[in-house]
Amino acid sequence: MGRTAVSTPLNDILAARIRAEGPIPMSSYMAECLLHPTHGYYTTRDPLGAAGDFTTAPEISQMFGEMLGLSMAQAWVDQGRPARFILGELGPGRGTLMADVLRVGRAVPGFVEAAKVVFVEASAVLRAAQATRVPDALWVDSVEQIPVDAPLFLLANEFFDALPVRQFQRQTVDWAEICVGLDVESALHLTLRPAPGALPGRLGDTQPGDIVELCPALPGIITEVAARVADGGCAIIVDYGDWRSLGDTVQALRAHTPEPILAAPGAADLTAHVDFEAIAQAAQGQVSAMIPQGVLLERLGITPRAQTLAKGLTGAALDAHIAAHRRLTHPDEMGHLFKAIALGPRGGPFPPGFA
Ligand code: SAH
Repeated sequence: MGRTAVSTPLNDILAARIRAEGPIPMSSYMAECLLHPTHGYYTTRDPLGAAGDFTTAPEISQMFGEMLGLSMAQAWVDQGRPARFILGELGPGRGTLMADVLRVGRAVPGFVEAAKVVFVEASAVLRAAQATRVPDALWVDSVEQIPVDAPLFLLANEFFDALPVRQFQRQTVDWAEICVGLDVESALHLTLRPAPGALPGRLGDTQPGDIVELCPALPGIITEVAARVADGGCAIIVDYGDWRSLGDTVQALRAHTPEPILAAPGAADLTAHVDFEAIAQAAQGQVSAMIPQGVLLERLGITPRAQTLAKGLTGAALDAHIAAHRRLTHPDEMGHLFKAIALGPRGGPFPPGFA
């Protein structure tokens, strides 16, 4: 299992904590790496784009935000055009998705005027990037802090994959938790601690050796979102993952290259696949079917939109545009690995694309 390859400031902080407390759950390791106030990955940098560590759908093409924006705007129309509403986003990155949503939303009379943009964002660096694209947004630290005085229409792209997960490994008839400890040379390493009774519901569909992940923060966030849209509003969630966690999906990416997850704490992005079954369970009936990203984008009309945009392009720009369309939709690229799900009011409706 992974050995420490780069000595980062966080490496020493984590080693001291583990010496004091003993091995820590994977979720604690991920939380420190991603959001440590001075050395955390998101705290210290803008990780997106070619010069960063990873690229996301809104950064690949404006068409992603346009399709989600049209779905949001139509959901707003379908719900009687509330005169004021919160246009919220969880983990907005550089603000690119919201900027595209607002641009396309201008085609729907009254939509942008009725919207108050609220961003849930932990990173000061990314808040600054978001402010250059959406200057009059309101920034909050958590879903609970989103104002409650208007219906919520919410977007979240690649937010839930950035939330820390715990990892459990099936033993013969019980579970052990995968933790981060120290080896004899004081290097970070993975170690198992008994976790009796951890996942009783998963003994029936797993084999000894299987790994199951659990995102402790997810149910609370989804329950809150479901409550906020119970009487009006909606949420569109897009992320990579699948129905029901199975297998080790925690990965580290630095400069677009995978590396061992313990290699450079705080200097690499850490993510895990999102368990859409856990979203559906927490949303308690206010949830659509899970669909692949490619299916959602096709239903919302990405191909005719791509053809229209292509008419103004030639040469390398046209090639890049065609590649972006393929990257977002094709099953061999993001089209199938990424999934989408929507939350809506009790009794519906869901936003277009999720019917
Ligand atoms: N949605 C954007 C960015 C995805 S990266 C896009 O598609 O390009 C993950 C985003 O979530 C970043 O903006 C990161 O700072 C934010 N984030 C991660 N953990 C968070 C947390 N616990 N609370 C709030 N924001 C968080």
